[in-house]
Amino acid sequence: MSECIFCSIVDGTAPAHIVFEDDDVLGFLDIRPLRPGHTLLIPKVHASNLAELPADQGAKLFNAGQMVAAAQRASAIAADGVNLVVNDGRAAFQSVFHSHLHVVPRHDGDKLTLAKGLLIRRDKDLPGTAAILRAQLPKLGDR
Ligand code: 5GP
Ligand code: ZN
Repeated sequence: MSECIFCSIVDGTAPAHIVFEDDDVLGFLDIRPLRPGHTLLIPKVHASNLAELPADQGAKLFNAGQMVAAAQRASAIAADGVNLVVNDGRAAFQSVFHSHLHVVPRHDGDKLTLAKGLLIRRDKDLPGTAAILRAQLPKLGDR
């Protein structure tokens, strides 16, 4: 297993609920989601932060973010809106130092539910949520 938990997910030595995969990018559910469907997109090649992330990889990450956002809207998650967020650096609350894009589904009037999600951060059915998103997204591996 790699020292970096996200690299371990890429090499398959750590488990994750994968929702999207192509040659450069892997997408999986956040283990402590702000809302069900909260997805993390990472470059397959390790980059600790934005400064280390090649521009073309950043573009691919954002493009995958657009696809996951569309899937969160079109699927049973039925998002009305989506937050795409990068926390870059400890001061910005980055806690895993393999750069990643958060894709958080939002619903009209969900301010209070989101506030609760910030405290509880749980999805009782991660596999079910992953299956919903996977069904909307292309090019998946078998994991
Ligand atoms: P950051 O604070 O660095 O922007 O976000 C890191 C995110 O990674 C957090 O939301 C956290 O819940 C998530 N996370 C940390 N470790 C794991 C893990 O082992 N598996 C998954 N799926 N998510 C993780
Ligand atoms: Zn890594």
